[in-house]
Amino acid sequence: MADIIQLLPDHVANQIAAGEVVQRPASVVKELLENAIDAEASEISLIIKAAGKTLIQVTDNGKGMSPTDARLSFERHATSKIRTADDLFNIHTKGFRGEALASIAAIAHVELRSKQEGEDVGTEIKIEGSEVLSQEAAVLQKGTSVAVKNLFYNVPARRNFLKSDNVELRHIIDEFHRVALAHPGIMFSMFHNGNELFKLHDSNIRQRIVNIFGPKTNEKLVPVEEETEFVKIYGFVGKPEFAKKTRGEQFFFVNNRFIKSSYLNHSVNSAFEGLLRDGAHASYFLYLDVDPKTIDINIHPTKTEIKFEDEHTLYAILRAATRHSLGQFSIAPVLDFERDANLDTPYAYKNKPADVPNVDYNEGFNPFQEERTRVKGAPAFRKEKAGSWEGLYVGLESKGNNSPSEFSQVQFESDDEVPSFFDEKDTKSALRTFQLNNKYIVNGIKAGMLVIDQNRAHQRILYEGLLQSITIEEGVSQQLLFPLKLKFSTLEVAILQGLKGHLQKVGFMFSNLDHDEVELNGVPVGLEATQVSVVLEKLINDVENQVPDSHFSQSDLIAKSLANSLAIRAGVKLSSEEQEHLVNSLFACKEPSISPSNKPTFITMSSDDLDKKFTI
Ligand code: ADP
Ligand code: MG
Repeated sequence: MADIIQLLPDHVANQIAAGEVVQRPASVVKELLENAIDAEASEISLIIKAAGKTLIQVTDNGKGMSPTDARLSFERHATSKIRTADDLFNIHTKGFRGEALASIAAIAHVELRSKQEGEDVGTEIKIEGSEVLSQEAAVLQKGTSVAVKNLFYNVPARRNFLKSDNVELRHIIDEFHRVALAHPGIMFSMFHNGNELFKLHDSNIRQRIVNIFGPKTNEKLVPVEEETEFVKIYGFVGKPEFAKKTRGEQFFFVNNRFIKSSYLNHSVNSAFEGLLRDGAHASYFLYLDVDPKTIDINIHPTKTEIKFEDEHTLYAILRAATRHSLGQFSIAPVLDFERDANLDTPYAYKNKPADVPNVDYNEGFNPFQEERTRVKGAPAFRKEKAGSWEGLYVGLESKGNNSPSEFSQVQFESDDEVPSFFDEKDTKSALRTFQLNNKYIVNGIKAGMLVIDQNRAHQRILYEGLLQSITIEEGVSQQLLFPLKLKFSTLEVAILQGLKGHLQKVGFMFSNLDHDEVELNGVPVGLEATQVSVVLEKLINDVENQVPDSHFSQSDLIAKSLANSLAIRAGVKLSSEEQEHLVNSLFACKEPSISPSNKPTFITMSSDDLDKKFTI
């Protein structure tokens, strides 16, 4: 029989290798940024178009390549970074496999320009699907620029597998953050579709973190420092009271390389034991310098996982160092975490003169006109001050009263003229509800008993009101006498810009939304100015962490997030009128039985079930 084994042609081998190295645009970003760092650049710029699907360009002022090296750099296993197998155990550069450029060139249109210091001219190479189209001399600045266009143009399966621009951009930004945090001494800039998202001057680690995550991060950071023979640890952990529900800002850098390690993560988390609220995640930016000989970074093609020689010792040192810092900087005791965050004043507000109450009146108000113009579109925001509950029901009272047909699912006990032991006049409420553990509202219904979760029910009510404002009619905004200035990171402001249209519809009036500044001169009715910062922060967080591929619209996401922020929590005592109103409003909703996140808002227990319980 004839021999059947053949060597794959290079371009096929490269395409296969590309599958490992390049999963998505963000992988290209990582490889190109790392090459620029290995070339000892002090300034690196990243330009992205259409979330990297049409263009990813990285330009550096590093040492550049000779024309021959530039041509060779696209060959598989072509690297200037290691020469022998021994070098594998002493790696000081990001790259060493010599695979990235070959892989990228196999699945995209690539243009590389490079010039070394002291040379008169540089070189320009065009390459498509591993095929060199041209190489010419070119007049260039010192350094290298690699433009990757039309990624996956010849791998439709991969191209179709890409997620929405939002999701892909999120991945790119994550990579950018990781590289920029690992190298605070290098200046980085990033542009997307012509907008500057980041400009990070060379700085120390703290400034780099603050430049990326926004000025309000500064006061959240607690320094960590420890030096042993085995490892040097430095960086910051976030104060426990700022811990977020989502696992976002968690970074380990080993020898200036971002790595993922659930083992080390566990070590840091154990140092936070007893300091975090349930479900909250500590944030950390921790840098570990170890002897390169004691780690193996060769185990993963994209090199985010590494093996340590002595993991156990590292675990213990890291835990102790973190614990020590939290103790030394006398992080507030646990009890303090329960304090009402609503009492905190946002920074921009701290030195402001007290607001003169702004009397809002409607010139066109006609008491004989139907109520709907005032209330229908307004989202129902709860006022935070104890006892001021009007905000809770704005926009709902008319709904509840005008559409009794919507009560159809549940018939209330009071519908029946059952003789009562109590004088009806005493209880203004027609529903006879009571609150259990300041958490549930219990209500007798014809067929038995109804138990409503007050938080989820209110979320449902707010959610439908907000969605209505966004999609049908605009919500009502309350004018602020002094514009409210808030600081966010540039990325956060960019996210808000994307949501601006919808946010205006629920009543957020932005007078400025630029760079890292947000200025509002109107907020939704019932939303306290002191709450705005927290509410917007949560919203940004939710947008950033939206489930990839989620088919939900932006309006849905906004309505969910705001409803979640603003709904009454468990633990809040409600008067019987408030309880009644909540029940009415809930059953006036289109989908009263589930919360916006699809959890039951109430349960019922039938008289039969009750009977059964008593027959035992
Ligand atoms: P690796 O980084 O693993 O060596 P790459 O395929 O990423 O492999 O790059 C191949 C080679 O091309 C590098 O070893 C380096 O010599 C050269 N190179 C790539 N990018 C740059 C750059 N931005 N500046 C200078 N040289 C570069
Ligand atoms: Mg490389």
